Amino acid sequence: MKKTITWVAILVFLVINTGCSTTTTQRNTSQPTLTNPNRGNSSTSNRPPTPSSVHLKLGNPSGAAANKPNNYLMVKPQYALSYNRDKGIPNWASWQLNRSWLGNTDRTNDFRPDSELPDGWYRVRGSEYRRSGYDRGHVVPSGDRTNSEANNSATFLMTNMVPQSPDNNRDYWRELEEYGRDLVEQGNELYIIAGGYGEKGKIGNDKVSVPARLYKIIVVTNPRTGINGINNSTKVIAIDTPNREGNGDWEDFITTVDAIEKKTGYDFLSNIDKSVQSVIESKAYRLKTSNNRSKTTTKQSNKNCSPAYPGVCIPPPPPDLNCGDISYRNFKVLPPDPHNFDGNKDGVACVR
Ligand code: MN
Ligand code: MN
Repeated sequence: MKKTITWVAILVFLVINTGCSTTTTQRNTSQPTLTNPNRGNSSTSNRPPTPSSVHLKLGNPSGAAANKPNNYLMVKPQYALSYNRDKGIPNWASWQLNRSWLGNTDRTNDFRPDSELPDGWYRVRGSEYRRSGYDRGHVVPSGDRTNSEANNSATFLMTNMVPQSPDNNRDYWRELEEYGRDLVEQGNELYIIAGGYGEKGKIGNDKVSVPARLYKIIVVTNPRTGINGINNSTKVIAIDTPNREGNGDWEDFITTVDAIEKKTGYDFLSNIDKSVQSVIESKAYRLKTSNNRSKTTTKQSNKNCSPAYPGVCIPPPPPDLNCGDISYRNFKVLPPDPHNFDGNKDGVACVR
């Protein structure tokens, strides 16, 4: 009898639990099964039909599609992007960010080729950027997908990476990412598009193009109305940064969406009413509070540099990093070298 009760209890527990996790998955991963031909994109557009995804609500900036190898549309539960086969990098990625995507998952750090690329296409490997002097720069940040391990891991696909100058990646780019998450914590829902343009060389046996510049557009919406609430007073943060060494504040790179459209040839926010587009795309938004905030963020992130590596900023493990995971070379190492970068113990690590 006691046994029966125990089994019933276990069963009830399982049923309840399964129910919960299903709900969470549906809410948080926005599966591409949202595909609904009746809801798709604006019928006024001449673009080819695009699958409906929460990440493409603003539109498909380059008219990416399945039959265009260098403007190849990939829609994942976690984000959508246009992949460029010949360049080995995305042209752009687009994603929604609200509280449901944020949680406490650690970085999975599983950089890897994207198996969803068509057969026969070159698949950039996680090791491809090694010794190139460039970081594997997430376009969709790891920090924007922390509600589950699967969602975080999806940001480590190499289709979501561009070679990014270490200063750019770790300084103002990161600060803007953190600023975006602050906006979410303040109760906003963001629609973000980011990518690179131009070419300043190639790495990884010429398989991977290095963009000359990296841009990001953040549309700040109210979660209750989402993109339907976008109007002439909606805030749109647009930055366009050089992909090179040198420090700065992300606000030094503020520009307009129109300027980025001119440079890239894309039409961003194409699902938004044309007259609203022309207003919000021509303004350069400057947000008064962000300056102090990004300075604070910098201070906080500097605190997380391991003292074993003076002169560079490498956070202590976990995760355990290898030289291939970082872009610093020939840097000084003090015991106990928590990442074991200095294999021959001569005090200098990751010698080029
Ligand atoms: Mn425009
Ligand atoms: Mn536009």
